[in-house]
Amino acid sequence: MEYATIKINTEAPNQSGGSVLVIYTGGTLGMVFESRKGQLVPFDFEQLIDKVPEICRLNQEITFLSLKEPIDSSNITPEVWIELANIIDSQYAHYDSFVVLHGTDTMAYTASALSFLLEGLQKPVILTGAQLPIGVARSDARENILTALEIASARNSSGGPMITEVCVYFNSFLLRGNRSKKQESSDFDAFHSENYPYLAKAGVSIDYNLPFMMPVNPGARLSVQQHLDPNVAFLKLFPGITPPVVKSLCHIPGLRGIVLETFGAGNATTEDWFLHELEAAMNRGIVVFNVSQCDGGRVSLGRYQTSRRMQEMGVISGEDITAEAAITKMMYVFGKSGKVDTTHLLSHSLRGEMSPPLEI
Ligand code: ASP
Repeated sequence: MEYATIKINTEAPNQSGGSVLVIYTGGTLGMVFESRKGQLVPFDFEQLIDKVPEICRLNQEITFLSLKEPIDSSNITPEVWIELANIIDSQYAHYDSFVVLHGTDTMAYTASALSFLLEGLQKPVILTGAQLPIGVARSDARENILTALEIASARNSSGGPMITEVCVYFNSFLLRGNRSKKQESSDFDAFHSENYPYLAKAGVSIDYNLPFMMPVNPGARLSVQQHLDPNVAFLKLFPGITPPVVKSLCHIPGLRGIVLETFGAGNATTEDWFLHELEAAMNRGIVVFNVSQCDGGRVSLGRYQTSRRMQEMGVISGEDITAEAAITKMMYVFGKSGKVDTTHLLSHSLRGEMSPPLEI
């Protein structure tokens, strides 16, 4: 492996919790305040045991790997998502589980992208982070790391991994990664999953919400798609949006897909200029994926007159998908090689990221 790794020798006599690879990407969690520079700087992971000594008491064999340049997650790119997916792929046979330490700002995007890229995943990949740096006394980093590690080691009644999907663990809740959203920039309960139940809740014990977890598929084999197409854009509607805004976005050279962030149950203005611009874009081959600006509930195309015309034009309903999952799903679907049925892939759940359409 071309990355530097550090093995943590846990004091636990039997490492029955299996082996875990912790991948550090950056973010607040790994920052410490450096008084000389008067700023937060990435933390040297060799000091981890000093900051979280309890880690030695976990029943796991823990190895740390750091990206060459840890980043604030606002600088994450599709290339880093592919790099992370390839690290997991190359180490898949050597570890029972993976924990990714990541900045909170774009964690929901990374979790969504990884869920699509890691096809056939049958081991836990848990993303976590913190609202306060690990060096701060009141930091949430300690609890988030320790519980994410414990959840990563959980086994089911047949001895296999309890979790076989990409998740976000934060502030006592384990969420499906591609259903999660950062909704709080100050409180510790930063992540929510409005349209899908939590997968586990950590209190005195860790209670798993078994009916909502991805079923185990023993025949699945991991493979990583090597390309994500960045030629996608969000178009967030607002009352008063003007024709030049819509027109200029629809005419971006090379654009293949628009995630249209609509009102309520998937509604938009019915003004002619808007519908005309959208239809013209679709006639040029641009795919439009309708996602609601509401965090809870779903798109229901055709329910109101303000969405019927879009339905007739072939705008694809995002149902109850998050904007983060929608944009990364588009990158993934357009990144597929060969002939693919884009509409089918976008309108169906690939990794549990959206619910099936309601029968109206
Ligand atoms: N800006 C930071 C990041 O996302 C915030 C955090 O980690 O909470 O990398």
